[in-house]
Amino acid sequence: MKIGILSRNRQLYSTKRLVEAAETRGHEVQVIDALRCYMNIVPHKPEIHYRGKRLEGFDAIIPRIGSSITFYGTAVVRQFEMMGVYCQNESVAISRSRDKLRSLQLLARKGIGLPVTGFAHSPDDTQDLMNLVGGAPMVIKLIEGTQGKGVVLAETKQAAESVIDAFRGLDAHFLTQEFIGEARGTDVRCFVIGGKVVATMQRQAKEGEFRSNVHRGGQARPVRITPEERSTAVRAAASMGLNVAGVDIIRSNHGPVVLEVNSSPGLEGIERTTGRDIAGQVIAHLEAHAKPGRTRTRGRG
Ligand code: ADP
Ligand code: MG
Repeated sequence: MKIGILSRNRQLYSTKRLVEAAETRGHEVQVIDALRCYMNIVPHKPEIHYRGKRLEGFDAIIPRIGSSITFYGTAVVRQFEMMGVYCQNESVAISRSRDKLRSLQLLARKGIGLPVTGFAHSPDDTQDLMNLVGGAPMVIKLIEGTQGKGVVLAETKQAAESVIDAFRGLDAHFLTQEFIGEARGTDVRCFVIGGKVVATMQRQAKEGEFRSNVHRGGQARPVRITPEERSTAVRAAASMGLNVAGVDIIRSNHGPVVLEVNSSPGLEGIERTTGRDIAGQVIAHLEAHAKPGRTRTRGRG
């Protein structure tokens, strides 16, 4: 197969591993910087150009779209879909996963366990919005944050009000969420490929921190998950329409709840923690599914 990896940096661990796994399995692979792709949007004959040449002959695309380039990156993925190239994660699915509110609504629709979450526009509703999630302590999150940035724990009602006022003052969209204190700064990353959980790790926030993100100093270790957690992760990935996903689950007193579903989950933490060849499994999924025209939405929506 000829595989394109949409990634801005070929030196990243995840990109390097995917290239290596694809080549080991006998495929031709090209790393493509989505921001250097330019397109002509014409009926019947969509094209993508890259560094002076037309991109052609690809059997499959692995989109690794960073959150800072979601808008342009998903447009490039959509163009590949319009060309009939199989994209492992499709543009609509990536867009859904990038919007915390939209993804929580989709998960709720499928009856998947979530932290109690509130969302409001008007400042008149701040009190009720706080009551809705059980009052302080509560978590307040920017809708499009990543790596723990924009996720705040407000321990008192006053702190929550100040944070909400500050976010509103910046015209930022945010949500309020029940704080799952019983998880004690841990969450579980489930790596899902093609409807199966292929690896899991638990992340523990560093001392004095409630966010377990590795970028915030969190430590990872292997963990076994329950059948309920396994099915929650698989259903969460499916409700987004993602073939490859990192589903973050937090263990609450009322069962597993999904925090977020990541559409470009990193390989470094999960491979180093579990010793598994996840990159190889990502390529194996392509081998089984990538056929011309197999892209589901073909750029719709
Ligand atoms: P990001 O996209 O920035 O990673 P998350 O929603 O995943 O945002 O939150 C970052 C981290 O903060 C999570 O991995 C988790 O450890 C912690 N966290 C988030 N929401 C809650 C919550 N409602 N209760 C307890 N901890 C939370
Ligand atoms: Mg997260």
